[in-house]
Amino acid sequence: MNIPKTSYPRIVIIGGGFAGVALAKKLSKQEVQVVLLDKHNYHTFQPLLYQVSTGGLEPDSIAYPIRKILKDFPNFFFRLANVQEIDTKKNKVKTNIGNLKFDYLVIASGSTTNYFGNAEIEKHSMAMKTIPQSLNLRSLILENFEDALLTSDLHERNALMNFVIVGGGPTGVELAGALAEIKKGILPKDYPDLDTRSAQIHVVQSGDCILKGMSSMASQKAEDFLEKLGVNIWKNVRVTNYDGKTVTTNTDLIFETPTLIWAAGVKGATIKGLDGEDFVTKGNRILVNEFSQVRGLKNIFAVGDIACMETKDFPQGFPMMAQPAIQQGQQLGDNLLNVIEKRPMKPFTYKDKGSMATIGRNKAVVDLEKWKFQGIFAWYVWMFVHLFFLIGYRNRMVVFVNWVYNYVRFDREARLIIRPFKKRNTL
Ligand SMILES: Cc1cc2nc3c(=O)[nH]c(=O)nc-3n(C[C@H](O)[C@H](O)[C@H](O)COP(=O)(O)OP(=O)(O)OC[C@H]3O[C@@H](n4cnc5c(N)ncnc54)[C@H](O)[C@@H]3O)c2cc1C
Repeated sequence: MNIPKTSYPRIVIIGGGFAGVALAKKLSKQEVQVVLLDKHNYHTFQPLLYQVSTGGLEPDSIAYPIRKILKDFPNFFFRLANVQEIDTKKNKVKTNIGNLKFDYLVIASGSTTNYFGNAEIEKHSMAMKTIPQSLNLRSLILENFEDALLTSDLHERNALMNFVIVGGGPTGVELAGALAEIKKGILPKDYPDLDTRSAQIHVVQSGDCILKGMSSMASQKAEDFLEKLGVNIWKNVRVTNYDGKTVTTNTDLIFETPTLIWAAGVKGATIKGLDGEDFVTKGNRILVNEFSQVRGLKNIFAVGDIACMETKDFPQGFPMMAQPAIQQGQQLGDNLLNVIEKRPMKPFTYKDKGSMATIGRNKAVVDLEKWKFQGIFAWYVWMFVHLFFLIGYRNRMVVFVNWVYNYVRFDREARLIIRPFKKRNTL
């Protein structure tokens, strides 16, 4: 990998997501060598992926080069590498570009879509966890309307304009709201010769409410917002299978659609060597102690979505969200320096900064510790927070300008089929 030898301890970080980048920044000016490995050369701002899928933002504006984030830091090395295995005995990671020894290893590999073992659904549905997947979804949505325009078969046309989203968490809710706004504001202009009123957006949720992790007030308001936008919400319904054409559920409800979007859950993105039952717990996450240390391993740590740190308040581990990942990354930076300088480590404490979701124009829900609010003010807060956490001035400017433009013009100009998505099934 051409990483120079040094007298400094070498800390290898797997993953340049929220946790990995927060950690690397903390270690940037210290007497350590930091090697960050990621299979992408960019950091992805996942909370805005749904805007890429629905043509509201260009993909580049929610991605940022990892090398640039850490460009001014001495002793920092980035390698574009897919880590395939961790050898905990030899303190070595194996990657597609070679092997690398470490003194300390931090796994910050995040999470991956959880299909709960259903291979058919995995094969035929659309996920939205990465930028390429979001671009696939964008293409498929637009291709469906192009195909709907061509077919004279009414059943096929309706199916092509049917969108089924599985999962009523923030991702499912935000995507449904954006699709509903496209249906209302953009499709009639783009496809005047197609009866786009038949387009249907369905959210299927196995539980009895949407936005389960938020307050009941936020959940109810989000449901009202979505219903006003014409989204069909199916609660207490579980999708059981999908063959690329028909979605079956545990009830009589079935949907005909070439587009099933799976937003029903994620699981830890484990790596061979640390994926056995000695290390992995609920949600396929790596069990760590209050110092983010992997069970039984003194020099190997895990932070962010991949890590399950069970506490009294969070017996299932911290929510798989950006804030716990950032805070764990930062805290581990301090703790690694404590270890190297032979000081005691400090246990992780989580500061819950609240949660929020946007449903559409002037419609968002925000839960803070002491204040819960919904509607237009919540929507401004949502936008401000997302702009604040985006990495890079250019990205912030581009996103801001796009949002103002979209707001004023009722538009989403990135509705482009740049890289056609090959459907595996035709109806
Ligand atoms: C669609 C969507 C919307 C979301 N919305 C919100 C939201 O509104 N608010 C919120 O707080 N959270 C949201 N989240 C969750 C949030 O994005 C995650 O909790 C957060 O990204 C976790 O950070 P992380 O650093 O643990 O992992 P990630 O940010 O996922 O980063 C993991 C990194 O590891 C790399 N990697 C993985 N495996 C390997 C390997 N084997 N070799 C090399 N590199 C590897 C990946 O390429 C990636 O860059 C959303 C997530 C999604 C998917």
